[in-house]
Amino acid sequence: MSGPIIAIDGPAGAGKSTVGRAVAERLGVGYLDTGAMYRAVTFAVLRRGVDPRDEAAVLEVAGSVEMTVGEERVVVDGVDATSDIRGREVTSSVSFVAANPGVRSLLVEAQRGWVAKRGGGVVEGRDIGTVVFPDADLKLFVTASPRVRAERRVAEAGGDVDEMEASIIERDRLDSTRATSPLSVDAAAVTLDTSDLGIDEVVAAVVAEVEARSVGGGR
Ligand code: C5P
Repeated sequence: MSGPIIAIDGPAGAGKSTVGRAVAERLGVGYLDTGAMYRAVTFAVLRRGVDPRDEAAVLEVAGSVEMTVGEERVVVDGVDATSDIRGREVTSSVSFVAANPGVRSLLVEAQRGWVAKRGGGVVEGRDIGTVVFPDADLKLFVTASPRVRAERRVAEAGGDVDEMEASIIERDRLDSTRATSPLSVDAAAVTLDTSDLGIDEVVAAVVAEVEARSVGGGR
């Protein structure tokens, strides 16, 4: 049995995870947060005292780390890293780890394996529709203004909005300008700007899109 592959890409804090989880639940399929995979590798890199910009050493960590990225919990080398992978330390280093081509190959292979095993699912990240699943049934690009994204992150996790906005703009810059699989909008993607939409409206728009394409009932 195989179901649809739904690719959700977009910049940090645009609401991809909230939308992705809700859509997966509506369709009764699995959900994979690939950002959590890059974060998990970064957590292991920092924990082992490796410099996130040292390409060879980072790749060695990525090749040897034991990690489980589940919908509820993320476990790295036997340690529950669910909240630490969202912390400031990991967040400020993850773009360097994600720019490492060897790390990307390993994780993209794992992402394709995850979908192959389940016969489909909702997969969220930066390069899902462009690189990982160019033949996805539906590609979404979820975005919002940096200010709105910063305000949402601060409402969730606390902190200062100006500082958060600056960190989001910097991460967008690094993710969009890196040589390997930069964040970009696939030609076939439907763009959803969530700046002025509530989560319920976004989920409704996506479900309408899925239904319009009849990708909800399997292939
Ligand atoms: O989605 P999230 O903000 O958790 O992603 C963390 C980082 O992981 C991003 O800033 C980006 O550098 C990297 N990433 C990526 N490709 C993906 C998912 C995330 O490069 N498919």
